[in-house]
Amino acid sequence: MSTVCPFRAGSAYGRGVAIPTTITCVDCGGVCSLISYEPDEGWEPGDIVAFRCRDCLDRWDVELTVEDIEA
Ligand SMILES: [Zn+2]
Repeated sequence: MSTVCPFRAGSAYGRGVAIPTTITCVDCGGVCSLISYEPDEGWEPGDIVAFRCRDCLDRWDVELTVEDIEA
């Protein structure tokens, strides 16, 4: 698990939920697209959100925190 919090780099927000649909790849600086589907009940702290980099195809699994959702 990376110690970097990639949510700070995101700018695209959807459906009123404060998590980004893209993040910046920590490795190559490319764009990582959200590949997880939002649960019907919405995101909750502790949910694992997966992103895949369009450039290096690395997958990033990020555990949501309260700060990520309420920010
Ligand atoms: Zn990358």
